[in-house]
Amino acid sequence: MTASRKRPSRPSGRDADPRRTIPLNSHRWQRLRAAVLAREPLCRDCKHVATDVDHDDGNPGNNRPENLVPRCHSCHSTKTMREQHGSTYGCDVNGWPTDPRSHWNEKSLEGDAARPPPGPFLQRNGRG
Ligand SMILES: [Zn+2]
Repeated sequence: MTASRKRPSRPSGRDADPRRTIPLNSHRWQRLRAAVLAREPLCRDCKHVATDVDHDDGNPGNNRPENLVPRCHSCHSTKTMREQHGSTYGCDVNGWPTDPRSHWNEKSLEGDAARPPPGPFLQRNGRG
């Protein structure tokens, strides 16, 4: 009879960041998170109900109270994306993608007037 062996669990996802000192699924983090949200229940950016606790400086190992900032999931995601990729892309008020590389910015049924001006990626010619 062969006993099935469990693999040792390794941190994955956001817990995989070696700087993180408190795993997100730990009782310690849950208590810390609850304390932050109790102290300041609204998103610091948009004033909607905060659901996330963000490490404001981007360092998941910095758990000092002044670095733990309540944010709604949307603001937290936007900030994290900006930190990791340098910018965020979405849509403008007319629904056009703000990413200049989007294929929607190359063709438009409404013509040029409905399109945002091409970004630096589309203006480039020759060798990239
Ligand atoms: Zn927010």
